[in-house]
Amino acid sequence: VLRKAIQEMKGNIRVFCRVRPRTNEELGKPMCTLNFIDECTIEVGKFDSSSVASGKCRANRQEFSFDKVFPPTVKQEGIFEELALLVQSALEEYNVCVFSYGQTGSGKTYTMEGLPDIETEGMIPRTVRHIFKEMKEFQLLGWEYRIEASFLEIYNEHIVDLLDCQPKNHDIRMADPKGHDLFVTNLQVEEIHSPEELHECLLIAQRNRAVAATQSNERSSRSHSVARIKLIGTHKTKEEVSIGNLNLVDLAGSERLKNEESVRVTETKNINKSLANLGNVILALLKKQEHIPYRNSKLTHLLMPSLGGNSKTLMLLNVSPLDECYNETLNSLRFASNVN
Ligand code: ADP
Ligand code: MG
Repeated sequence: VLRKAIQEMKGNIRVFCRVRPRTNEELGKPMCTLNFIDECTIEVGKFDSSSVASGKCRANRQEFSFDKVFPPTVKQEGIFEELALLVQSALEEYNVCVFSYGQTGSGKTYTMEGLPDIETEGMIPRTVRHIFKEMKEFQLLGWEYRIEASFLEIYNEHIVDLLDCQPKNHDIRMADPKGHDLFVTNLQVEEIHSPEELHECLLIAQRNRAVAATQSNERSSRSHSVARIKLIGTHKTKEEVSIGNLNLVDLAGSERLKNEESVRVTETKNINKSLANLGNVILALLKKQEHIPYRNSKLTHLLMPSLGGNSKTLMLLNVSPLDECYNETLNSLRFASNVN
C-alpha cells in the first residue's frame, strides 16, 4: 500500500533539469546568470558583468520550475540517486523511459553514458548495476530474470542496429495482439548476465555510433540513441511472468539548425518532427487525450508501450551554463516546462 501511495504521489511523468559545469576548455567563457532558488526552481538570465547583485537586471531573468533541479556541483551519483526508484520499477512490470534532452554539448551523452570510471559513469551503466543488485531481493522471493538488451539509433526516421551495423531493414512490429509489446525486426538482442556484459554492449554501440557519425557529418548530434533493456521475470512456483522494459534515450540535439541546406532539409524536418512529436505525445498524455499521436514518428512509435499506460517517464533536461548557449537554454527550459 505504501509503495502504491508513493508511486501515485510521484506521478508518471517527471522532468529534472541538470546544469553541467564548465569544462576546462570553457573556463574563460562567460556564463549565464544562474540562480538555484530551491530544489525545484532555477532562474536564468544573460551574462551581465555590471550587475553583480545590483538587481537591476532581474526583470530580464526568468524562473522555471521542475520536479528537480541539479546545479553543476551535483555528480553522476547524485543524479542517479533520484533515478534509482524509477528504474527499478521495471522489475515490477513497469515500462520506464528516461530521456536525455538538450542542445548539442549540453551534457546528454555524459549524463546517459558518462565516462568509463566509477565516479563518472552515467545513468545507463548505473541502472544496470542497480537492477542486478535489486534482482537479488526478488530472487529470494522466487523470481528468476532474463535480461535482454538492444541498442539502436534512429536517424532520419530510419532505425539502425548499433550492435550489428550490417545494413538491414528494420520495422516496428507488435509482439502481442494488443500492442502492449513491440519489437524491431532484424534487431540484435543480447542476453545479459552481468553488468560487465552490458558494458561491453554499450562499448560496441558507442563505437558503431561513432563510425556512423564519421560517414555522415553531424549525424551523432542529429540521431536519437536508444538503449532498450527488457526484464523478463518468471516465478519458480507461482507460474507468473513479469515483463518490464527500460528505454534509456539520448535524444538528438534540440538546437535549431542554422543553415538548412537543401540536401539536409528532409533530415532536419525528420529530426525536428520526432523531437516535436515526443513533446506532443507527452502533452497529449498529460491532458489525457483520447488520441495520442504515437505513430507520427519512429521514436514515439517504438516507445508506444513505454509512454502512457503502465509506464513511467522521466525527461532529463540538460543545460549548458555558457552565456553563448543562452538562447538555446531558454528554448530547452520552455520546452520542458511545457511538458511539466
Ligand atoms: P551532448 O551529448 O549533449 O552533445 P556531451 O555529453 O558530449 O553533450 O557533453 C559535452 C562536454 O561536456 C563533454 O566534454 C562532457 O564530457 C562534458 N560534460 C557534460 N556534462 C558534464 C558534467 N556533468 N560534468 C563534467 N563534464 C561534463
Ligand atoms: Mg551526445
